[in-house]
Amino acid sequence: MPRPAANLRLPFLPDPLAHYKRFIAVMSGAVLEVQHVRKTYGATVALDDVSLTVAEGELFGLLGPNGAGKTTLISIICGLLDADAGEVRLFGQPLQRRRRDLRQLIGLAPQELALYPNLTARENLLFFGRLYGLGTPELHARVSELLQAVGLLERADERVATFSGGMKRRLHLAAAVVHRPRLLVLDEPTVGVDPQSRNHLFELIRTFNRTGMTIVYTSHYLAEVENLCSRLAILDDGRLRACDTLPRLLALLDGQLLLTVRELNRDFLERLPLLPGVKNAVQKDGRLEITTDGLAELLPRVVRLAAEVGVHILAIDAQPPSLERVFLHLTGRELRD
Ligand code: ATP
Repeated sequence: MPRPAANLRLPFLPDPLAHYKRFIAVMSGAVLEVQHVRKTYGATVALDDVSLTVAEGELFGLLGPNGAGKTTLISIICGLLDADAGEVRLFGQPLQRRRRDLRQLIGLAPQELALYPNLTARENLLFFGRLYGLGTPELHARVSELLQAVGLLERADERVATFSGGMKRRLHLAAAVVHRPRLLVLDEPTVGVDPQSRNHLFELIRTFNRTGMTIVYTSHYLAEVENLCSRLAILDDGRLRACDTLPRLLALLDGQLLLTVRELNRDFLERLPLLPGVKNAVQKDGRLEITTDGLAELLPRVVRLAAEVGVHILAIDAQPPSLERVFLHLTGRELRD
């Protein structure tokens, strides 16, 4: 088939290949592709050769400590900042600053609250909706629907300055989705939020995701990413240390069984390393530390062996691999919640 000549396109006509391009992007399933992105601020390397892909419908976590490069990465993804090198593709197409149509498909809730304190909740959402070009009847219906969803309908006509931190965060989230984006990017959305509002935010995020919205969730809280996200990337010092599902990341590490007994005997010490699943066993701090890749299966075997050889178990502490330990393993340092 002959290729369409580039000069056949007139500036006032829509791209004849637009539907085709969109079809390809949807079929490939990739909403976001980040390829070899690098960004420096003077001598600081904020991002160093970062590549990752987010598929349609994912709730994807971007986890890293303060200064890891998360905000820089999402600013590049949202077209607010240019990378020094590398490429970002959204819905299969290269992101460029002038691609307003692509940026319209993204909703961003930045870390800093972007709300007008002297406007009411409703006025704020109407303002952001108009910015995205929503028509009046549709916009009013959408704003009421969102105020209801984020639990602020009763306070809709009060000034945002009178709201609690949690209420502001919920409104901030509503403002990011007023135009029904296909990709929602959240930068540390629970900063300054009490536990109850945090749970409410999680439920909202899950609900948006269930309706088909792809979500990139940025946080330095391990537990948040662990509970919410189906796949996650670990970013540290501008570098991507891992990008996978939680079970596959946890599989990088072995589980541990910490055993405290009244008195060890020779039979037990000789037969323990022979039990299926035992990778290593050492005595440390008055306990026996057993490393295993099959914690659940090993536990009853150890208890049975102890009973057989007359060893009295005082305490057993089973420690499955945790994201916290995976983070330590990959980065060499702890990420404290
Ligand atoms: P936080 O969670 O604290 O916002 P982060 O993971 O989002 O951290 P970034 O804000 O992307 O990290 O910062 C990455 C690195 O780049 C840090 O060392 C930061 O000091 C530096 N940095 C970020 N923005 C600038 C800037 N405008 N000028 C100079 N350095 C910057």
